[in-house]
Amino acid sequence: MPEELSPNIQDYLKRIFEITASSGGKATTNQLAAVLGISPASVTNMVQKLSKTSPPYLAYQKHQGVSLTAAGRRAALKIIRRHRLIEHYLVKALGYTWDEVHKEAEILEHAMSPTLESRIDAALGYPDFDPHGDPIPDADLVLPEVEQTALSRLPVGQFAVVIRVPHEDPQVLQYLGKCGLRPGAEIKLVARTPYDQTMRVLILSTDEEVVIGPTLGDQITLSTGK
Ligand SMILES: [Zn+2]
Repeated sequence: MPEELSPNIQDYLKRIFEITASSGGKATTNQLAAVLGISPASVTNMVQKLSKTSPPYLAYQKHQGVSLTAAGRRAALKIIRRHRLIEHYLVKALGYTWDEVHKEAEILEHAMSPTLESRIDAALGYPDFDPHGDPIPDADLVLPEVEQTALSRLPVGQFAVVIRVPHEDPQVLQYLGKCGLRPGAEIKLVARTPYDQTMRVLILSTDEEVVIGPTLGDQITLSTGK
Protein backbone atom coordinates (compact mmCIF):
# COMPACT_ATOMS: atom_id res chain seq x y z
CA MET A 1 0.00 0.00 0.00
CA PRO A 2 1.43 3.39 -0.98
CA GLU A 3 0.65 5.37 2.16
CA GLU A 4 -1.48 5.13 5.29
CA LEU A 5 -5.15 5.72 4.42
CA SER A 6 -7.26 8.19 6.39
CA PRO A 7 -9.34 6.75 9.28
CA ASN A 8 -12.50 7.57 7.34
CA ILE A 9 -11.39 5.53 4.32
CA GLN A 10 -10.21 2.70 6.56
CA ASP A 11 -13.71 2.58 8.08
CA TYR A 12 -15.33 2.42 4.65
CA LEU A 13 -13.17 -0.49 3.56
CA LYS A 14 -13.67 -2.30 6.86
CA ARG A 15 -17.45 -1.92 6.68
CA ILE A 16 -17.58 -3.11 3.08
CA PHE A 17 -15.51 -6.14 4.05
CA GLU A 18 -17.89 -6.95 6.92
CA ILE A 19 -21.03 -6.55 4.81
CA THR A 20 -19.73 -8.55 1.86
CA ALA A 21 -18.19 -11.25 4.08
CA SER A 22 -21.56 -12.12 5.59
CA SER A 23 -23.67 -11.67 2.46
CA GLY A 24 -21.04 -12.96 0.03
CA GLY A 25 -21.93 -10.48 -2.69
CA LYS A 26 -21.83 -6.73 -2.87
CA ALA A 27 -22.58 -3.95 -0.43
CA THR A 28 -25.20 -1.39 -1.41
CA THR A 29 -24.76 2.32 -0.78
CA ASN A 30 -27.85 2.20 1.46
CA GLN A 31 -26.35 -0.56 3.62
CA LEU A 32 -23.15 1.43 3.93
CA ALA A 33 -24.98 4.65 4.75
CA ALA A 34 -26.85 2.82 7.52
CA VAL A 35 -23.77 1.32 9.20
CA LEU A 36 -21.68 4.48 8.81
CA GLY A 37 -24.51 6.76 9.94
CA ILE A 38 -24.22 9.13 6.97
CA SER A 39 -26.31 9.96 3.89
CA PRO A 40 -26.39 7.66 0.83
CA ALA A 41 -25.26 10.65 -1.28
CA SER A 42 -22.00 11.05 0.66
CA VAL A 43 -21.44 7.30 0.47
CA THR A 44 -21.84 7.43 -3.31
CA ASN A 45 -19.27 10.24 -3.51
CA MET A 46 -16.70 8.37 -1.46
CA VAL A 47 -17.32 5.08 -3.21
CA GLN A 48 -16.78 6.73 -6.60
CA LYS A 49 -13.58 8.30 -5.33
CA LEU A 50 -12.24 4.99 -4.01
CA SER A 51 -12.97 3.22 -7.29
CA LYS A 52 -10.76 5.72 -9.13
CA THR A 53 -7.64 5.65 -6.94
CA SER A 54 -4.49 4.01 -8.22
CA PRO A 55 -4.70 1.15 -7.49
CA PRO A 56 -8.51 1.25 -7.03
CA TYR A 57 -9.75 0.05 -3.63
CA LEU A 58 -13.31 -0.59 -4.77
CA ALA A 59 -15.14 -1.93 -7.77
CA TYR A 60 -18.28 0.14 -8.18
CA GLN A 61 -21.01 0.29 -10.76
CA LYS A 62 -24.03 2.49 -10.32
CA HIS A 63 -27.09 0.62 -8.97
CA GLN A 64 -25.07 -2.59 -8.66
CA GLY A 65 -23.37 -2.05 -5.33
CA VAL A 66 -19.75 -2.09 -4.39
CA SER A 67 -17.08 -4.71 -3.69
CA LEU A 68 -13.45 -4.63 -2.60
CA THR A 69 -10.59 -5.01 -5.08
CA ALA A 70 -7.50 -6.97 -4.03
CA ALA A 71 -5.92 -3.73 -2.77
CA GLY A 72 -9.13 -2.82 -0.93
CA ARG A 73 -9.33 -6.23 0.69
CA ARG A 74 -5.74 -5.98 1.93
CA ALA A 75 -6.39 -2.53 3.38
CA ALA A 76 -9.57 -3.76 5.07
CA LEU A 77 -7.86 -6.83 6.54
CA LYS A 78 -5.05 -4.66 7.86
CA ILE A 79 -7.46 -2.54 9.91
CA ILE A 80 -9.53 -5.56 10.95
CA ARG A 81 -6.35 -7.26 12.20
CA ARG A 82 -5.61 -4.23 14.37
CA HIS A 83 -9.20 -4.01 15.62
CA ARG A 84 -9.31 -7.64 16.68
CA LEU A 85 -5.83 -7.65 18.21
CA ILE A 86 -6.75 -4.60 20.29
CA GLU A 87 -9.99 -6.19 21.50
CA HIS A 88 -8.09 -9.33 22.45
CA TYR A 89 -5.30 -7.41 24.17
CA LEU A 90 -7.67 -5.27 26.23
CA VAL A 91 -9.45 -8.39 27.51
CA LYS A 92 -6.37 -10.57 28.08
CA ALA A 93 -3.85 -8.03 29.32
CA LEU A 94 -5.87 -5.20 30.81
CA GLY A 95 -8.87 -7.01 32.25
CA TYR A 96 -11.56 -5.34 30.15
CA THR A 97 -14.83 -7.25 29.81
CA TRP A 98 -15.78 -8.32 26.28
CA ASP A 99 -18.57 -5.77 26.04
CA GLU A 100 -16.21 -2.84 26.75
CA VAL A 101 -13.60 -3.34 24.07
CA HIS A 102 -15.26 -2.53 20.73
CA LYS A 103 -15.54 1.21 21.37
CA GLU A 104 -11.87 1.43 22.35
CA ALA A 105 -10.81 -0.63 19.32
CA GLU A 106 -12.76 1.66 16.98
CA ILE A 107 -10.52 4.52 18.10
CA LEU A 108 -7.20 2.75 18.65
CA GLU A 109 -7.23 0.78 15.37
CA HIS A 110 -6.48 4.02 13.52
CA ALA A 111 -3.62 5.04 15.81
CA MET A 112 -1.60 1.86 15.96
CA SER A 113 1.92 1.64 14.53
CA PRO A 114 3.09 -1.56 12.78
CA THR A 115 5.57 -2.07 15.63
CA LEU A 116 2.91 -1.92 18.35
CA GLU A 117 0.72 -4.21 16.27
CA SER A 118 3.38 -6.92 16.03
CA ARG A 119 4.40 -6.52 19.69
CA ILE A 120 0.80 -7.01 20.82
CA ASP A 121 0.44 -9.99 18.47
CA ALA A 122 3.59 -11.57 19.98
CA ALA A 123 2.59 -10.75 23.56
CA LEU A 124 -0.69 -12.59 22.97
CA GLY A 125 1.05 -15.60 21.41
CA TYR A 126 -0.18 -14.94 17.84
CA PRO A 127 -3.85 -15.71 18.51
CA ASP A 128 -6.15 -16.97 15.74
CA PHE A 129 -9.34 -15.59 17.31
CA ASP A 130 -10.43 -12.57 19.35
CA PRO A 131 -12.66 -12.76 22.46
CA HIS A 132 -15.82 -12.69 20.34
CA GLY A 133 -14.57 -15.56 18.20
CA ASP A 134 -13.75 -13.45 15.15
CA PRO A 135 -10.72 -14.69 13.21
CA ILE A 136 -7.62 -12.46 13.41
CA PRO A 137 -5.77 -12.05 10.09
CA ASP A 138 -2.09 -12.99 10.57
CA ALA A 139 0.85 -10.71 9.72
CA ASP A 140 0.49 -11.69 6.04
CA LEU A 141 -3.23 -10.81 6.29
CA VAL A 142 -4.33 -14.43 5.91
CA LEU A 143 -7.56 -15.22 7.79
CA PRO A 144 -7.82 -18.53 9.64
CA GLU A 145 -10.54 -20.64 7.99
CA VAL A 146 -13.36 -22.07 10.09
CA GLU A 147 -16.34 -24.18 9.07
CA GLN A 148 -19.31 -22.45 10.64
CA THR A 149 -23.03 -22.20 10.33
CA ALA A 150 -25.42 -19.55 11.66
CA LEU A 151 -27.47 -20.41 14.73
CA SER A 152 -30.57 -19.41 12.75
CA ARG A 153 -29.89 -22.31 10.37
CA LEU A 154 -29.27 -25.00 13.00
CA PRO A 155 -31.89 -27.80 12.97
CA VAL A 156 -33.97 -28.11 16.16
CA GLY A 157 -32.61 -30.74 18.53
CA GLN A 158 -29.05 -30.45 17.24
CA PHE A 159 -25.97 -29.83 19.41
CA ALA A 160 -23.22 -27.40 18.40
CA VAL A 161 -20.27 -25.38 19.74
CA VAL A 162 -20.35 -21.58 19.58
CA ILE A 163 -17.72 -20.10 17.24
CA ARG A 164 -18.49 -16.38 17.25
CA VAL A 165 -20.88 -13.76 18.56
CA PRO A 166 -21.36 -10.19 17.25
CA HIS A 167 -18.77 -7.82 18.76
CA GLU A 168 -20.39 -4.39 18.62
CA ASP A 169 -23.43 -4.08 20.89
CA PRO A 170 -22.46 -4.01 24.61
CA GLN A 171 -26.00 -4.91 25.71
CA VAL A 172 -26.06 -8.01 23.53
CA LEU A 173 -22.63 -9.05 24.83
CA GLN A 174 -23.64 -8.50 28.46
CA TYR A 175 -26.71 -10.67 27.91
CA LEU A 176 -24.82 -13.44 26.13
CA GLY A 177 -21.99 -13.33 28.68
CA LYS A 178 -24.40 -13.61 31.60
CA CYS A 179 -26.01 -16.67 30.02
CA GLY A 180 -22.65 -18.28 29.22
CA LEU A 181 -23.21 -18.13 25.47
CA ARG A 182 -19.56 -17.56 24.50
CA PRO A 183 -17.18 -18.98 21.92
CA GLY A 184 -16.42 -22.57 22.94
CA ALA A 185 -19.74 -23.07 24.78
CA GLU A 186 -21.72 -26.21 23.90
CA ILE A 187 -25.34 -25.56 23.09
CA LYS A 188 -28.45 -27.34 21.90
CA LEU A 189 -31.23 -25.76 19.87
CA VAL A 190 -34.36 -26.64 21.87
CA ALA A 191 -37.05 -24.96 19.78
CA ARG A 192 -37.71 -22.46 17.03
CA THR A 193 -41.11 -20.83 16.74
CA PRO A 194 -42.48 -21.11 13.20
CA TYR A 195 -44.14 -17.66 13.13
CA ASP A 196 -41.18 -15.41 14.07
CA GLN A 197 -38.17 -17.76 14.13
CA THR A 198 -37.36 -16.97 17.77
CA MET A 199 -35.08 -19.66 19.19
CA ARG A 200 -34.72 -21.31 22.59
CA VAL A 201 -31.13 -22.35 23.14
CA LEU A 202 -29.84 -24.55 25.96
CA ILE A 203 -26.33 -23.81 27.28
CA LEU A 204 -25.01 -27.18 28.40
CA SER A 205 -22.46 -25.95 30.98
CA THR A 206 -24.99 -23.90 32.95
CA ASP A 207 -28.14 -25.85 32.02
CA GLU A 208 -29.71 -22.46 31.28
CA GLU A 209 -32.01 -21.64 28.41
CA VAL A 210 -31.73 -18.40 26.47
CA VAL A 211 -34.10 -16.82 24.00
CA ILE A 212 -32.49 -15.57 20.79
CA GLY A 213 -34.27 -13.62 18.04
CA PRO A 214 -33.68 -14.25 14.34
CA THR A 215 -31.42 -11.22 13.75
CA LEU A 216 -29.04 -12.20 16.53
CA GLY A 217 -29.37 -15.82 15.42
CA ASP A 218 -27.94 -14.84 12.01
CA GLN A 219 -24.91 -13.27 13.72
CA ILE A 220 -24.04 -16.10 16.09
CA THR A 221 -22.11 -18.85 14.34
CA LEU A 222 -21.51 -22.44 15.36
CA SER A 223 -19.50 -25.52 14.61
CA THR A 224 -21.61 -28.64 14.30
CA GLY A 225 -18.55 -30.93 14.35
CA LYS A 226 -19.06 -32.13 10.81
ZN1 LIG B 1 -15.17 -4.77 17.64
